[in-house]
Amino acid sequence: MPDFAIRGHATLSPTQCILCGSSEPPFLDTVVDVIGYGRIYLCVGTDQKPGCLHQAARAAGCADPALRRVLETKVDDLEATVQMMRDQNDRLSHALGNLRSELNEVMA
Ligand SMILES: [Zn+2]
Repeated sequence: MPDFAIRGHATLSPTQCILCGSSEPPFLDTVVDVIGYGRIYLCVGTDQKPGCLHQAARAAGCADPALRRVLETKVDDLEATVQMMRDQNDRLSHALGNLRSELNEVMA
């Protein structure tokens, strides 16, 4: 499997995306060289203007970077909420245990 890497610049000829011809970085460097063509790069693009890499990833069912960041933030928020609820549950369970003990003492 190729050792893919994101590059700030396409340093090897033809220094452009093989699919659309863009020479705007960043690029996915496939680390594949084709005789008669050169290095195979795919443009990455931006959130506002997705490049060939993001378009291909989206077509394959992968989330785009902007959506991924939104989802990661939501997951972080939900994990914090779950932890807060677990802490609250522990405190309530402890308080209930104390009430049961007090009730047992009163009823004894
Ligand atoms: Zn492209």
